[in-house]
Amino acid sequence: MQTSVVARGVLLLGACALFGCQETSNGGVPGGRHVIVDAGTEAGARLRAVLDVERNGGEIIVQNLDGTKVRIVSRLEGTARVVQHFNGTMNRPALTARYEGDEVTHWGDFNEDTRVDYQYVRRFDGGVMVQTWLEDKDLNGEFEIRRTQIGSRGTVKVVRERMQDLEGGGRGYVVESVEEGPAVEEERDEGMSTLATCDSMAGFPEDLGSTASLVDLPNLQVVIGGAPGACNSEQTSRILEALKQIPARIECLSGSNKDLGQLMKSAFSSGHDLFIGCGGQCPGTRAATDVGPPSDFDAALSGPYRSNLNARGVENAEGLDRTLLHELLHWGAGIRHGPGDGGTDTVWSCARFCSRCSTDGVGGGFPAADCARCSSPDKKGSCGVQFVEHTLEGCEHFAAQSRGRGVDPNYLHCIVSEGVASTCRACRVGSYAYCDGGLIPREGPVAFRCCTRCDEGRLGVTQFRGSPALRVDRRFRR
Ligand SMILES: [Zn+2]
Repeated sequence: MQTSVVARGVLLLGACALFGCQETSNGGVPGGRHVIVDAGTEAGARLRAVLDVERNGGEIIVQNLDGTKVRIVSRLEGTARVVQHFNGTMNRPALTARYEGDEVTHWGDFNEDTRVDYQYVRRFDGGVMVQTWLEDKDLNGEFEIRRTQIGSRGTVKVVRERMQDLEGGGRGYVVESVEEGPAVEEERDEGMSTLATCDSMAGFPEDLGSTASLVDLPNLQVVIGGAPGACNSEQTSRILEALKQIPARIECLSGSNKDLGQLMKSAFSSGHDLFIGCGGQCPGTRAATDVGPPSDFDAALSGPYRSNLNARGVENAEGLDRTLLHELLHWGAGIRHGPGDGGTDTVWSCARFCSRCSTDGVGGGFPAADCARCSSPDKKGSCGVQFVEHTLEGCEHFAAQSRGRGVDPNYLHCIVSEGVASTCRACRVGSYAYCDGGLIPREGPVAFRCCTRCDEGRLGVTQFRGSPALRVDRRFRR
């Protein structure tokens, strides 16, 4: 038998009071002890209200951090639960999520132009979880990125593909990378390799019978009880204090990236626990977590989901909330780190951006870049815009765009001989870009710098003419 108690305001009283509660709640009943703490945060109450609507049906309006509003409507369609998000007063959903058992589909029309810009499908193929993400990053009506993640517990294989012109004509997906690895993801310290052979799940507590959790996040269970690998009273206090911040972090995520926010919310609604232990032993690793998203099938096959924190990671109270959000993204959204990302992939970027714009951790230091990398295409512009110089292959595009805008056509050409010119093969131009460096789709270059390459082989041109820089159009400057 298990007992539990809700302790109000215990976080403020500290660990001793927390454990005092357990003594009284246990009452000599054999089995695990569960302390449930009501942190009393407004964001926590809002998250519970949203999850209640999404799970049980109804409608709720939530305000994003940028002041915009989203109306969430949840209803049953046959045996499937359908959750839709409407921006402001729009009648067209910006995101639709459909749940049926372990199978999930999301699709999003970020700019409400009736074209789907994003699709996520989670299904089981012969008992193996297969997740597919399709993304139209430049919102031009074509999914240029396809990512397929095969497997969840045990081993995961990730295939990244990009839509390209095919040699035989037409367009199709071409594989960019294939990775395969264990379904445990780690958060490492600066300068530490992920290739270390240390078992980051070693030391995780075996006895998960006694736990502490927050009312707002009931399936995040901190393992207590004094067994090896369990969190001691001080660690438990620190972790609960950090978890108290998570509902607000999820609001940040949902506002910047609806799909990611939705994946996290469905993990919190899944009924599956994530057990947080304090037994991590690998040097340089702050935490390691089983990759989700949590599913009935995987839990039945592979047991409870684990997150193993290192004592060093827990000691750093400043960074603990960021570490926990990072780990929760692995578990809840099932996202693995990108290949050779240097700490700038979705998990790292979102965990920092939504943790007080922290600059900590591998790859940190640029909050606006983190914001843009974390955000879906419709929200990237809210992170700011920058002017970047880059090389354009062939100047015709720029020449066509800049006609009548003050660029001497001769500057876009190579001189073949007196009075004869050929088109420049590459130009240096200036364009506006999001803070992650990605050019803003459909904007095109706005400033010409110079021609940088002429077609020597074919035309025998030996010189090209430079150009004075155009005045930069400042309309996007912030
Ligand atoms: Zn990680």
